[in-house]
Amino acid sequence: MTHSIHHRRPSVGVRVGSIIIGGGHPVVVQSMTNTDTADAAATARQVQQLAAAGSELVRITVNTEEAAAAVPRIRDMLDAVGCRVPLIGDFHYNGHQLLTKYPGCAEGLGKYRINPGNVGFGRKRDAQYATMIETAIRYDKPVRIGVNWGSLDPALVVQMMDDNAKLPEPKSAAEVTREALIQSALISAAKAEEIGLPRERIVLSCKVSGVQDLIAVYADLAARCDYALHLGLTEAGMGSKGIVASAASMGILLQQGVGDTIRVSLTPEPGGDRAKEVVVAQEILQTMGIRSFTPLVTACPGCGRTTSTVFQELAEDIQAYVRTQMPLWRERFPGVEDMSLAVMGCVVNGPGESKHANIGISLPGTGEAPSAPVFIDGEKVMTLRGDRIAEEFKALVDDYVVTHYGPRADTGT
Ligand code: SF4
Repeated sequence: MTHSIHHRRPSVGVRVGSIIIGGGHPVVVQSMTNTDTADAAATARQVQQLAAAGSELVRITVNTEEAAAAVPRIRDMLDAVGCRVPLIGDFHYNGHQLLTKYPGCAEGLGKYRINPGNVGFGRKRDAQYATMIETAIRYDKPVRIGVNWGSLDPALVVQMMDDNAKLPEPKSAAEVTREALIQSALISAAKAEEIGLPRERIVLSCKVSGVQDLIAVYADLAARCDYALHLGLTEAGMGSKGIVASAASMGILLQQGVGDTIRVSLTPEPGGDRAKEVVVAQEILQTMGIRSFTPLVTACPGCGRTTSTVFQELAEDIQAYVRTQMPLWRERFPGVEDMSLAVMGCVVNGPGESKHANIGISLPGTGEAPSAPVFIDGEKVMTLRGDRIAEEFKALVDDYVVTHYGPRADTGT
């Protein structure tokens, strides 16, 4: 579902496999692995997990010869299990060598990410950059020119700081740095076009780690070019901080129509699920009404009117159930991602909120009769009782999905 509440900034669409970034297409969700790319099996496994969670593009670092050699094997392993998600290769310092020496890597990747600040130094830099762009042209691959606050081209920054110091009213160092980020991306993109990479093969990004900086940089970048933009807060951080900082900054930009593909760079907790970054990216887009991925559960926060955790458990259980079903539902029941569910804790807002959902349940609060009215499309259809409420509610959700979405027409073979 794409709502018309915000207007996307016009941009040149960039095709990556079957996905199109920009050009008015839905905002694409991407993510990045944290496995050692040289370990092809572990990387393929994580790519598959990220893709199953809904990542439409997955980036892997290609940092060594072993990693470059592993790329075609990773691609084969994914193809063998029917996982067609395009792989993006992240290159720093030695990309020109790896892409030249390992044609299987250059061919197997769906897109290259080049950081203009990490291409090389002095005269070598331009030649090494050109090598990577020429490889992209030869293999017909798009490129993301991804500038990063932490690895900004030092020669460019020094030059711009010097020029700024000579001005009668010099700008602040932060302003000059922001401008340097944008210049680095735009100059590198212009060079890539000069070498022969078409505009519809170029995506730009200028990542920073501060919320206000990200908003300022992207608002400016978006106004100065029509390249497709990859949006993300770099080094967003751990837990709720990373989620909040990403949602706050990206939410404002997305509302302004800026951002054609997004990545949420969360630091996973030890042993945590890498796919969380995919879920957060989807939830940013879906809660804003920009794009739907998975039915979301509206739940009340609970208060002194509930003495048990039954409704929190049910809300969590239902959300988890829906996520597990999605890979199958997505195929068989088109439109199911727009379904809305509500699990509420008591009679105060329970029936009202439940009526707004496609299916809602209002559990009994303290002192209320032990019964849970269920509402379907605004109508109270039944009341559940006893200790099998969760199972019975799930069965109603299943039933709603089957009767309201799909089945998808069988195209036959
Ligand atoms: S719906 Fe009831 S339990 Fe939930 S927050 Fe409101 S008053 Fe509290």
